[in-house]
Amino acid sequence: KFITFEGGEGVGKSTQIKRLVANLIKREIEAVRTREPGGTPRAEAIRSFLLQGKSEQWGPSAEAILFAAARLDHVNSMIKPNLESDKWVLSDRFCDSTRAYQGLTGGVPDELIDALETLALNGATPDLTILIDMDPELAFERVRKRAAEDGLNLPPDRYEKENIEWHRRLRRNFLDISRSNPERFVVVDGTQSVSDMESDIWAKVSERFSE
Ligand code: C5P
Repeated sequence: KFITFEGGEGVGKSTQIKRLVANLIKREIEAVRTREPGGTPRAEAIRSFLLQGKSEQWGPSAEAILFAAARLDHVNSMIKPNLESDKWVLSDRFCDSTRAYQGLTGGVPDELIDALETLALNGATPDLTILIDMDPELAFERVRKRAAEDGLNLPPDRYEKENIEWHRRLRRNFLDISRSNPERFVVVDGTQSVSDMESDIWAKVSERFSE
């Protein structure tokens, strides 16, 4: 099975994906965790280029193409081989992030996003996408608190770079994407405690894949 996690900044995707992998392994289901942009050495190289802001002058469409190049490598050399050996693959972000960030929020035309999705997915459509939804202001408050507690985990750059209205738009765009793909998406309330969210996600995953 191929499961992707999506959502805005600081909603707790990484924590939940780790817990879901642990819950699957506890039940003797082989599961691997990966992330985007990245997931392979070549795609991680594109990730650092993108996240260091080096692609900004390229413009949003060329950036979307870079995300797609990273994704194609990730799909072909990591996601598909693992799925073919019957492992579950759980990815922290995937194609819906490109549609939400670069497409609907960043202004890259739908036609380019659609074309890149077809090319980069190469047939690897997620079986289930978990959207963690919450008010961005609340998410940032949590991230800031965590940063103050451990002194290391700094808030995402995106938080500094874009205003709150941009993040609200991003949230609405993720929700719109989920409504257009109701058979693939489940939406999870990001304001729950970490362990409540873990149980909620486990219930939704078990329900979806119960044989
Ligand atoms: O999920 P994570 O927070 O690690 O994502 C890293 C950064 O990449 C985030 O700040 C996110 O805004 C950005 N990103 C993006 N477009 C994507 C995927 C991620 O701008 N398609």
